[in-house]
Amino acid sequence: MNRDLGTATFLIPGQLRGIVYTDLDGTLLDFDTFLPSPSAVSMVKELVGVGVMTVPVTSKTLSEVEQLAAILPLAPIAAAEGGAVLHRAGRDPSLLGAPRSELIAILRTLQAEGWPVRGLSEMRAGEVATITGLSAAASQRALQRLASEPFTFVSEPGLGAAVLKERVRELGGNLVRGGRLWHLLGAGVDKGTAIEEVRACMPTTASVPAAAVGDAWNDLEMMCKVEHRFLLGTTVPEADIPCAVERISERGPAGFVEAMLRFRMSLKGS
Ligand SMILES: [Mg+2]
Repeated sequence: MNRDLGTATFLIPGQLRGIVYTDLDGTLLDFDTFLPSPSAVSMVKELVGVGVMTVPVTSKTLSEVEQLAAILPLAPIAAAEGGAVLHRAGRDPSLLGAPRSELIAILRTLQAEGWPVRGLSEMRAGEVATITGLSAAASQRALQRLASEPFTFVSEPGLGAAVLKERVRELGGNLVRGGRLWHLLGAGVDKGTAIEEVRACMPTTASVPAAAVGDAWNDLEMMCKVEHRFLLGTTVPEADIPCAVERISERGPAGFVEAMLRFRMSLKGS
């Protein structure tokens, strides 16, 4: 499965001046339309022009990232499925953590224990479209997962998120919360570990200024790995944030553009 990815390559040593790790839904893409705004597209292109790579770090699937890479000059590396799938252009994707079949087995155990959870693997594309607002075709791409299992969960008294997270850990997985859904990943896998993997694969990315931008709980681990941290919108309450972040009130592409204006300004001073 040798697939195409980003085109924004920086092959000349010293040409890379910065790196942006970005969430997609609710950040680079509008939360409801799943599209980047024209100004967000322009911003990604302008970033390439000043030597800054944009790396998607998303809960979406590789298939969904590839769709976006067709219209945006993204980096030749991306983390999909919440950090569980790392893909470099021209290579096979590598899985970080357990394959999806093991995660589905954990979900079955939770269901047998009475947890009100329902995984994407149990849904047809039509139901995924209803839950997420994705089109039928996009829902098909969202279902093509290798090492994650998103699911719906409505906490009840005594069956709260903190208890569920601990139970998932006991069962050998990791639980993170995205903007819409909860996500089962392999043990220790999140968007923060994905950034460590990117740095291991492409050491030049570790030696330039780095920014991370996102709008949900599962973006916090990646933010804590970089020096420029931009949290969009008001979905995540202050009490849930483990490291200092810059809040930007607008969610989606408008917030992304504002974050990148600030990051670019900081590069001018460096
Ligand atoms: Mg998001």
